[in-house]
Amino acid sequence: MNRSLAPVEFVSDLPSVRIRFPDGKEATLSSGTSAAEALRDWDGEGAKAALAASWNGVAIDLATPLRSDGALAPLTFEDRVGRDILQHSSAHLVAKGLVENIPEARPTHGPPTEDGFYYDFDVRPLTPSDLDAVRAAMERSIRARESFVRRELTRSEAEKLFATNPHKLRYISEVPEGETVSVYDTGTFTDLCRGPHVPTTEWLAGVHILGFSAITPEDATAPALQRIRGIGFPTRAQLDAYLKMRAEAEARDHRVLGAKLELFTFVDEAPGFPIWLPNGMIVVHELERFVREHLVAAGYSEIRTPLMFAQSVYETSGHWEHYRDDMFLTEVEGRTFGWKPMNCPGSMLIFRSRARSYRELPMRLAEFAPLHRLEASGTLHGLTRVREFVQDDAHIFVTEEQAEPEIRTLLDWIGRAFATFRLEWSCELSTRPAKFLGAPEVWDKAEATLERVLRASGVRYRVSPGEGGFYAPKIDIHIRDSLGRPWQTGTIQLDYQMPLRFGLEYQGPDGQLHTPVVVHRTILGTWERFVGVLLEHVAGRLPPWLAPLQVRAIPVTEKHAPAALGLVEELRAQGLRADAVGTEESLSKRVRNAEVSRMPYIVVLGDKEVAEGSVALRVRGSRESRSLSRPEFLAYVSERVRKRDFDA
Ligand SMILES: [Zn+2]
Ligand SMILES: [Zn+2]
Repeated sequence: MNRSLAPVEFVSDLPSVRIRFPDGKEATLSSGTSAAEALRDWDGEGAKAALAASWNGVAIDLATPLRSDGALAPLTFEDRVGRDILQHSSAHLVAKGLVENIPEARPTHGPPTEDGFYYDFDVRPLTPSDLDAVRAAMERSIRARESFVRRELTRSEAEKLFATNPHKLRYISEVPEGETVSVYDTGTFTDLCRGPHVPTTEWLAGVHILGFSAITPEDATAPALQRIRGIGFPTRAQLDAYLKMRAEAEARDHRVLGAKLELFTFVDEAPGFPIWLPNGMIVVHELERFVREHLVAAGYSEIRTPLMFAQSVYETSGHWEHYRDDMFLTEVEGRTFGWKPMNCPGSMLIFRSRARSYRELPMRLAEFAPLHRLEASGTLHGLTRVREFVQDDAHIFVTEEQAEPEIRTLLDWIGRAFATFRLEWSCELSTRPAKFLGAPEVWDKAEATLERVLRASGVRYRVSPGEGGFYAPKIDIHIRDSLGRPWQTGTIQLDYQMPLRFGLEYQGPDGQLHTPVVVHRTILGTWERFVGVLLEHVAGRLPPWLAPLQVRAIPVTEKHAPAALGLVEELRAQGLRADAVGTEESLSKRVRNAEVSRMPYIVVLGDKEVAEGSVALRVRGSRESRSLSRPEFLAYVSERVRKRDFDA
């Protein structure tokens, strides 16, 4: 593919520059060599796929001449930054297309987002046919392989160029004195921009407009803007794969499935607070039961601590300083209380409630209490982003030596837990952030422990420098669902700070007082998020042990109804969830309804079955039914539910 680069003019005092590459290789090149040429020369990992470059940690155009010694790395679509550059470049292309069709449209800004990009325009209300025209213009530009060419202007040149666009004039006025103003030309279209961008429009072959909407500006007196949203990919094939995945994801949207299966709902009067319906509570209770079995086997105790604590508790824990903005606060009798965003403080207070001995350690305290976090209303999303939730949370108080074996046990449990749901998982080790509590040496020690356990366990993991919590480094658990989408669930944090801040002590075998270390951990994460992810993962076909109803008995005619009811009673006596339906509707309609509700097991009882004491069993996902005696059927279903087999 010919990805031609813009011609670059340069002047340099140095005859040559020394460039370092990510693999440690170095090259001496003549000064003014472009980043593209330097990467081509090097030809290391990512060089061919580079759409921009990182120069001493700053993203630059591939056409940028290198005029000093420094570190150069390729940026590709696989990198977050590279991806953002391609999204933002796509936004330019949209602006170009719109201005070609509506010359009086005034572009404002076009940033990348979490999942694509948008561009806001000061323009008359748009119509679907405007978007068609934009799409056609974009196609033309992509075929013409137009370059993104950077020009640097003086302030007055820039002001002249954008004289008719007050938005751009405001941006120009905001450029700090002494900094250059840059514009990028793409064909005949020029946009004010800091850059960088992809080299040519050929890189935007997989661009796709998702839609448009009117945007109310923050300043209510300003005119409404029109926002065009889209997403970009380097190739058409990548776009097609994305659109296919998106259609599949939409069909599995947990908000839709949650309503259809009557699991949960939301009301405007409590935004972000899930309302669990009877069916949903069954799922939550089964998950709790699953987790509790592990807790019992692994020597945990369960506790319940207050939902609210006075401000002073959070001052001690550090939440007041670092997390206050994300907490719900309440005034009671002149004191400020905070709704707990995490269970840690309550567990610390229990540990501190009396003198402790080393013989009590490890002390494992689990708590399934509702937690509250003040998520911005714009970010709320079904069950995956909520303001009230319950975690499979626990705090493990250990001696320093006990931390490692304890975390090893946790990784084993994670493996078994996610295998039960057929979810792939991996770990991310997040280390000391810019704002942190305690001494750096202690952080180093905790980070080293976590990394040692990860390495020894053979688990897949990567390191995210600076992404740890403010009080501890952590291992975040990431899962991948059946559509290949990543989700973060649980976390394991190794904390030396909070026990110190709460003044926790235990008497060691030496008779002296020592400070314990705390492992904070959740594995499945929150019930809310986990149920949301799981519903999409299985497209609503919950495994039988989690299904709100496991068996539906369908009598062929009214005279078979007593046999159906008798079977339901037998199933219920064994702790299984079953119901029987009446005979008002046709048999095929009733079978169809049971299928639509994703019932794991459907049994039909007619003359033959009643006479033989058998059932005609239809397992979810199968078109055939088979005959089983009633005891066989009961044993079959009980066994699968007890073993938490994945599907019917
Ligand atoms: Zn730009
Ligand atoms: Zn905690």
